[in-house]
Order: sequence, then structure tokens, then C-alpha cells
Amino acid sequence: MDIQCCPNCSSESYTKSGIVNNRQRYKCKSCGYFFSVNKMGKRIDDYYVNKALQLYLEGLTYREIERILGISHVSIMNWVKKYNIKRPYNSNYHPSYKILSASELSNYFQKTNNLSGAGVLVTELGDKFMLIKWERFRD
Ligand SMILES: [Zn+2]
Repeated sequence: MDIQCCPNCSSESYTKSGIVNNRQRYKCKSCGYFFSVNKMGKRIDDYYVNKALQLYLEGLTYREIERILGISHVSIMNWVKKYNIKRPYNSNYHPSYKILSASELSNYFQKTNNLSGAGVLVTELGDKFMLIKWERFRD
């Protein structure tokens, strides 16, 4: 199931860019063309299993992870069960998240008021980055 090159320009330089309808999508680094493998069957790349579980541990809901990664929440629930993932219950903090490009991310960190009073965590997400921000619930 390996892709050898971009179907549009034959470049061998491409990067993972999300999952669409349970199929791995790629983005060509040379021409920007999006393409996916024709058939992945039921197997989803380990990369996204790891990402989904990571986001789950950070406190995101199944539906949020589904929206971000394009993986069905049922698959995510199954992985959580399969790998016996338990996350600590914490009702005092609320995670919010943004999907940013590398330059948006660097702009974000240049504004100090973005960083006060909250913890942030950044994780790679295909050709983008995801920033998770932890804030205390305000009553
Ligand atoms: Zn290309």
C-alpha cells in the first residue's frame, strides 16, 4: 500500500495530511496537491492511533477528536478500550485547542498575553500543529 510519488507531479516528497473517509490523505510538498491511497481497508495508520489517544489523554472529547482527525469516534472509543487508556478526572481545567500552521504557531508564541495564566502543549498534526491550551474554569 505504499505510495511511490505524487500522482500530479511525481514528486517523492509528500507529507501526511489528515484522514478523509478512513483513508490516509497526503499532501505533495512540491505542488501542494492532495491525494490519498485508494484503499486502506479498516487499518488506520498507527500515527493517527497515537495522535487520537494523545488527544484523548489531554482531555478532548471523542467528538472533538473525530472532528480534528477525521476518524470516527467509534474507532477512537475502541482504541481507548483496546489499549486500556485511563485519563485522570479533572474538572478544574478545560482544554481548548487551535490548529495552526508553523508560522501561525510562531506568531502565537510571540504574544506574551497568549501564554499567561494557562499551560499550552503543542503536538504535530500532519502538516500543521495543534496547540492545546489549559485554562482554569472561570466560575
Ligand atoms: Zn506533486
